[in-house]
Amino acid sequence: MRDRLKALYELQLIDDQLDELEALRGDLPNNVKELQLKLSQLESSVDAKQAEIDESAAKRALNEADMEKFLENQKKYKAQLYSVKNNKEYDALTKSIDQADEEIKKREMENAALLERELAMKADIESVAPQCDEIKEELKAKEADLKTIIKSSEREELKIREDRVRVEAKVKKADLSKYLHIRKAKGGKAVVTIDRKACTGCHYVIPPQRQLEIRRMDKLFTCESCGRFIVPTDVADEVKQ
Ligand SMILES: [Zn+2]
Repeated sequence: MRDRLKALYELQLIDDQLDELEALRGDLPNNVKELQLKLSQLESSVDAKQAEIDESAAKRALNEADMEKFLENQKKYKAQLYSVKNNKEYDALTKSIDQADEEIKKREMENAALLERELAMKADIESVAPQCDEIKEELKAKEADLKTIIKSSEREELKIREDRVRVEAKVKKADLSKYLHIRKAKGGKAVVTIDRKACTGCHYVIPPQRQLEIRRMDKLFTCESCGRFIVPTDVADEVKQ
C-alpha cells in the first residue's frame, strides 16, 4: 500500500510541475488560436469578395464584347439604309437598328450596376486591410512570445514528461483512471495530504479515527468531502525527498 500511495503522490507532484509550466504560458496559446481564427475568417471573407469581383469583371467584359458586336451590326444596318429598295426593307432595317440600341443599353445598365457593386466590395476589402495587418502584427508578436516561453522550458518539460512516463507505469491502472478523473474534475489536484487535521484539498476536517486509518494505510482513502486521494504525511515527505 505504501508504494501504491507513493506512486500516486509522485505522479501528482509531476503533474503539478507540468501545470506550473502550462500556467507560465498563461493565455498566450489561447490568444494565438483566437487571433489565427479571426485572421482566417477575415481573409476568407476578403477572398470571397475578391472572387465575386473577378466574376463580375468577367461578366462586364462579356457584355462589352457583345456591345461591340451590336454596334458593328448597327453600323452595317445604317449603311444598308442608303440602298434600300422598298419600305418593307427600310422598316426591317430600322427595327434591327432599334433592337441593337436596346441590347446595348441593357448591357450598359447592367455593367454600371456591376461596376458599382465591384467598387463597393473593393472598398470593403480595403477597409478590412488595416485590421488584417493589425491582427497579423499582434499574432506575430504573440507567437514569438509563446515560442520563447516554450523554448525556455522545453528541456525541463521533456525531462518532466520522461519522469511522468516512468512514474505512471508504477501507478495501478484502476488508481490511474480514478486519479485522472479526479484531476479533471478538481482542476489539477487529485492527491492531497493532511495538514492540521484537514484535507489540504478542501480543508474538510478529517475525523481522528479516519486520520488514524489513513496513517495505518489499511486501504486507499479518499476525502469524504472532495473525493481526492489522501496520502499520509510521512509518505508525502518521503516522496518529496
Ligand atoms: Zn477534501
